[in-house]
Amino acid sequence: MSDEGGYPRRIPNPVATTLDLNRRLRSVFGHSVFRPHQEEVCRRAAEGADGLVVMPTGAGKSLCYQLPGLLRGGPTLVFSPLIALMEDQTAKLRELGLRAERIHSGRPRSESRRACRLYRDGELDFLFIAPERLGVPGFMEFLEGCRPALIAVDEAHCISHWGHDFRPDYRLLGERLPALRRRSGPEAEAPGAASPPILALTATATPRIQEDIVIQLGLEGADRHIHGFRRSNLAIEVAKKARSARPALVADVLADPGRRPAIVYCPTRKETEALARLLADRFPTAAYHAGMATAEREETQGAFQAGGLAVVTATTAFGMGVDKPDIRTVIHTAMPSTVEGYYQEIGRAGRDGRPSRALLLYSWADRRTQEFLHGLTYPELRYLERLHGALSDEPVEVDDLARRLRYPNRVFEAALDQLRIHGAARILSGGLVCRARPSEAGDSAAGGGAEGCRGGEALSWRRTYRAQRRHRLDQIDEMTRFADHRGCRMLRLVRHFGDRADSGEQCGVCDACAASSCLARRFRTPLAEEVQAMETVVSMLRRRDGVGTGRLFQEFRAVHGSYDRDAFEDLLGALAQSRILFVVEDSFQKDGETIRYQRTGLTPSGRRRGIDLAGQALLPDDSPGEPSRRRRRRTAAAALEIAEADADPELVEILRAWRTEQARKRRWPAYTVLTNSALIAVAARKPANPDELLALPGIGPKTVKRYGGALLRIVAAADEAGEAPADGG
Ligand code: ADP
Ligand code: MG
Repeated sequence: MSDEGGYPRRIPNPVATTLDLNRRLRSVFGHSVFRPHQEEVCRRAAEGADGLVVMPTGAGKSLCYQLPGLLRGGPTLVFSPLIALMEDQTAKLRELGLRAERIHSGRPRSESRRACRLYRDGELDFLFIAPERLGVPGFMEFLEGCRPALIAVDEAHCISHWGHDFRPDYRLLGERLPALRRRSGPEAEAPGAASPPILALTATATPRIQEDIVIQLGLEGADRHIHGFRRSNLAIEVAKKARSARPALVADVLADPGRRPAIVYCPTRKETEALARLLADRFPTAAYHAGMATAEREETQGAFQAGGLAVVTATTAFGMGVDKPDIRTVIHTAMPSTVEGYYQEIGRAGRDGRPSRALLLYSWADRRTQEFLHGLTYPELRYLERLHGALSDEPVEVDDLARRLRYPNRVFEAALDQLRIHGAARILSGGLVCRARPSEAGDSAAGGGAEGCRGGEALSWRRTYRAQRRHRLDQIDEMTRFADHRGCRMLRLVRHFGDRADSGEQCGVCDACAASSCLARRFRTPLAEEVQAMETVVSMLRRRDGVGTGRLFQEFRAVHGSYDRDAFEDLLGALAQSRILFVVEDSFQKDGETIRYQRTGLTPSGRRRGIDLAGQALLPDDSPGEPSRRRRRRTAAAALEIAEADADPELVEILRAWRTEQARKRRWPAYTVLTNSALIAVAARKPANPDELLALPGIGPKTVKRYGGALLRIVAAADEAGEAPADGG
């Protein structure tokens, strides 16, 4: 950083650091060895380097800032989004004999003042702070009086509106960190004083969120420690099953004592209870969800932890603080809404390193459920607009407002909650609500005049809300693609998190790598015609290796016209399973956007001649009762090649509204009218005629025939409106 002037950096001797690191690990933290990657992160931070640390939950990220903070002589400032986390960490550090304090809204003001004083007097090793404190007048000046040795931003994904726990307060960090880093106070004048390093830590950041964190916190030059997402003892299986068949299947799987203890994640509270009743006849089982009383939840968690319960059927509320190493199986009885959440949940299996299994049961209908749930949490922007318009600086009663606006069931609560989350409304005590001021929205115009301030505020909550709302839909898409993926599951997850140091090898134990050990999936030998089709694929790949699956499909279709994309993907899956080809998720950069697609090629054994496909390759044998494959959306990877950023946001909203109306008229789910990716494609490419429309991914002749006229009219009208002079509103 440039503000270090000519001072030499306080870089400890690297050899001494290694010794110190190991000694402190033992003497202070009581651990005999570092967990993977901890030492590297600690050493670099101790040397003063900024870092972004993305490692899974339980990897031991806290140590990564605590140890270097101590080595650098303390104190360490830690920003953390959750009171419970702060309390927990403070207690743990105190048990180790360290001096730790915390400042958050759950503590009396006098206690917070005392914590501040201790920090300033150099009496603390660690001070945990809730980020919204940075917005409290005078608080920054207080902190600036003492320069920390290290600044840690825990759960750093909260800073990104792409992240699942976006916290507008976290945005304050980006503005305030530079001041905290600057040399201030008497000891800052000492020769050798360097600005403290910043460590941003999180378990759930995709490459997109990683970028956002880095930009927000000004960590462009920071080390990237993105590691440990591969779990080699975890066999992942994803099986398509009708809903009605799932409970019995779960009971079957768990009947084997070697598959317990187990967590079964269910989509609703009711289902956790129903499944618990079914399973409790066979082995000790209890349900867990956020609707239960705290005492009851604690009892269930405690009993599971202690081994008194073999199975917990739970919603996603179960997990934080579950520290049980011997969980053998994690089952999902429905498709989760995000790959990140899914990864966190299955990651609870096999912490002891012994073989464990993650089983996901899903069907075509699950996606519809997810879209429905999405609609409940993220109402259309117009509802937020109207509600925001009805708010002012004067507090009004929430109930009055609800009566006045007469929104559909649950929409009002959701819209208000979103305005609050995105920093546009403030909920006061006594059931009152008012508009949030710009600074409260975490968007005070840094360096800008009043105009920038107003404009910034007006734009900001809309922009973050819209982006987050759409991002959630993308995440559902992404999860669907994961479920439908025909290649190695673990590899797919590792790439999802951008673990660049990973070996890139197939895991060898998932359903794509090891069909024979599947618990729920069924396979069949291919028909003669299917063998022929596979031979076509192999011979096409002999000519051209490492090709996108979308393009390969186009070529393939010229020979085997009766195959749709799904049937084609099944062939690829069968060939991947028998190690003839590989299927990987890949990406490239285009106009600053990361574009992802699936790539396939022959493996060394696939390149050998004379393979007996009929004897080796197995095709999935989907359970009867599944909707016809043809009705399933064509989630072509090609659809991804149109980036959402290219789409006109207004047009997207208009198209969505139109789609909702069509769906309602026909009583169909919205995505059967037009999938999200197709909708984005239309809004991005703005087709002018039926041919251009047909060329878009996800749009087939039927769609053109049925909706082509309407879609083209909407696009044309939006274009005209866009060119008309703005009405100044
Ligand atoms: P994360 O923040 O990555 O989810 P934590 O920092 O909370 O993980 O650590 C998870 C657990 O691992 C804690 O109980 C911690 O004490 C323990 N732990 C961390 N590092 C080590 C180590 N080197 N050896 C043994 N246990 C460790
Ligand atoms: Mg942590």
